[in-house]
Amino acid sequence: MNRIYLDHNATTPVRPEVRDRILPFLDELYGNPSSPHSFGQEVKVQLDDARERIASQLGASPAEIVFTSGGTESDNAALKGVAYAAGKGHIITTLIEHPAVMQPASYLGKTGFDVTYIKVASDGIVDPDEIKKAIRPDTILVSVMHVNNEVGTIQPIEQISAVTREAGVPMHTDAVQSFGKLPTRVDDLGVDLMSIAAHKIYGPKGIGVLYIRKGTRIDPLIIGGAQEKRRRSGTENIAGAVGFGEAIVQAEKERAEVYDRLTVMRKRFIDTISEKIPDITINGNAGATFPSTVSVSVSRVEGESLLLSLDMEGVAISTGSACSSGSLEPSHVLVAMGIDTVLAQGTLRFSMGRGTTDEEIEYVFEVFPPIVERLRAMSPLGARWKEEYSQAKA
Ligand SMILES: *Cc1c(COP(=O)(O)O)cnc(C)c1O
Repeated sequence: MNRIYLDHNATTPVRPEVRDRILPFLDELYGNPSSPHSFGQEVKVQLDDARERIASQLGASPAEIVFTSGGTESDNAALKGVAYAAGKGHIITTLIEHPAVMQPASYLGKTGFDVTYIKVASDGIVDPDEIKKAIRPDTILVSVMHVNNEVGTIQPIEQISAVTREAGVPMHTDAVQSFGKLPTRVDDLGVDLMSIAAHKIYGPKGIGVLYIRKGTRIDPLIIGGAQEKRRRSGTENIAGAVGFGEAIVQAEKERAEVYDRLTVMRKRFIDTISEKIPDITINGNAGATFPSTVSVSVSRVEGESLLLSLDMEGVAISTGSACSSGSLEPSHVLVAMGIDTVLAQGTLRFSMGRGTTDEEIEYVFEVFPPIVERLRAMSPLGARWKEEYSQAKA
């Protein structure tokens, strides 16, 4: 049977170049990089090289790169770290962040900090003016994600950071979905903190980076043996870090080509399903959406049923957000965009990757429309609609 993976925003397979680079660290290269002997030092050289590669991609200095266990830890470290260093104050974030930012923000809101959540327009874009209006004399951090994981919208980080810079407030961005796919030089984006992770760009799971601009006031989340210049203790995940370093070098080589290919594929995807399936909506901003992602709301059916039916045909996708699947709550991102809660529950995310082929997309065009038709015919909402639709036509 066909097995088609269209859930690259959730995670990606490790590419062969990365796997080959990692293997020796699961075998003969096992020293602790903090050890001064040769076993440690041969590994430290490799860790430094990985740090160098990631720093260079960000236009940062290697001393500003802190390895973490992934995107979630980097986001937690950024928000809690800045908050703990300040002791008190006001934090600004948005209503469309990943839970890895949303939850720490909400936690800080319950433990003595003030938090403002900025709303978005119906196209899922944050207005820099709204950030400007929300900044107060006691604001200690602004956190706005770069590319949204559910709908793929690209936020105007440069314009937002122009506002935060003028106000002298540090700015964090969750760039987990954009790193390796869009330009993410920290000086161009104007950010002081940035979260990234390897497993969204064909690297291993469980490794990420928090970029911390020199001079940023931040406390460490994890303390102990003083690794990572005291900013993140614990013996480093060497295989992960080296794999991340390789993943970004490979991603950068093909970045423009993949972007162009996905742009063509996304247009064809949207054109074809819009033609074959009546009454669907494509979410996000037509001009500012990363082309791997198609968020589509299908009226009168439940997303979870669509997902399971597609899975039975071998097509793996996600409803609103992988992280909240299993819950009956509609996606907070879609709700923030003003999408009706029932329609939000009928929303699917197709996310394509570097390996997605035209043949795979063709197969989706074949199996997806009949699934929608069948489920609509079965659903009470669908039956009523069909009646009204035929009456309106008569
Ligand atoms: C996947 C993702 C995360 C979480 O990263 P993990 O490495 O899985 O912890 C955070 N933010 C965004 C935008 C993501 O897409």
